[in-house]
Amino acid sequence: MKALVTGGAGFIGNWLCRELLAKGDEVLVLDDLSSGRYENLEELESGGRLRLVVDTVNDPAIVNECVKEVDIVFHLASAVGVRMIIDRPVHTIKSIVGGTETVLQACARYRRPVVFTSTSEVYGKGAKIPFSEEDDRVMGATTMRRWSYATAKALDEFLALAYWYEARLPIVIARLFNTVGPRQTGRYGMVVPSLVRQALRDEPLTVYGDGQQSRCFTHVQDVVRCLVALSGCKDARGEVVNIGSTEEVTILELAQRIRTLTGSKSDILMVPYSEAYGEGFDDMRRRVPALEKAARLVGYQPTLSLDDILNDVIAHERENAC
Ligand code: UDP
Repeated sequence: MKALVTGGAGFIGNWLCRELLAKGDEVLVLDDLSSGRYENLEELESGGRLRLVVDTVNDPAIVNECVKEVDIVFHLASAVGVRMIIDRPVHTIKSIVGGTETVLQACARYRRPVVFTSTSEVYGKGAKIPFSEEDDRVMGATTMRRWSYATAKALDEFLALAYWYEARLPIVIARLFNTVGPRQTGRYGMVVPSLVRQALRDEPLTVYGDGQQSRCFTHVQDVVRCLVALSGCKDARGEVVNIGSTEEVTILELAQRIRTLTGSKSDILMVPYSEAYGEGFDDMRRRVPALEKAARLVGYQPTLSLDDILNDVIAHERENAC
């Protein structure tokens, strides 16, 4: 098998490339290196079974060329991170809507199966926990720039499902919940790498809001295994599937846990959202996935706990700091 991974130089993308190479596939990566990093792929490229094309998913000619030469497409390329979404809303919307349209059009032309990575953000501020794939979406006002990301990703989902409905293009939509692990950059504000770096430097751990908002963090290794399993599952075609974990933690507890595991002397600093993100921000209090569908389709169950994840990230950050 030969797979195209758009966004393959990014955090989840490079883990997916490793998983595909480990199972014997060839991999073609299309990445403009805007938020992805070449270093993520350097050692993989020298192995000879991975090739990198540095270009954008917004260019139909390039995308066509790439899609034509593979058997399956994993479309991960996307603007990423709350920081980026708040600071660069035009780029966010254009890359998510335009890029996915281009990729899906090429896949439809050459009839290549696609796994599209969407996001738990599409559930928005829904209060019915856990979030199931068929639940209503609850979005904030359009003046809150954060929701542009969820809305753009939801439009991508509509388009992918439309291709399935009209042309039976084999698509699977994976809604990823908070995915973390080694090599995730803290540049776009993601909480785990940010807090771990602060702890290792004995700097204050910045907890936004009242710290009582909660998340469930999943190790990227579990996520990419599930993506690969879904890509080979006929019953998953035309389906939306959550991927995540149900081990819930408040952000304040997370900061405390990171402080303990690193042995850091850091204080915890409570930062109002308005100071952290400026205007145009809205958070969600809880986000917990229902995982029955992924379990039924591909036997998915997360194998790594929050402590496993944090220890892994801490070890990686320690190594990189040296
Ligand atoms: N957060 C925080 N401190 C930080 C970065 C993030 O308290 O330095 C909070 C953020 O406001 C959110 C949670 O941690 O409530 C998770 O943030 P992240 O950006 O990692 O992902 P999200 O779940 O918001 O997409």
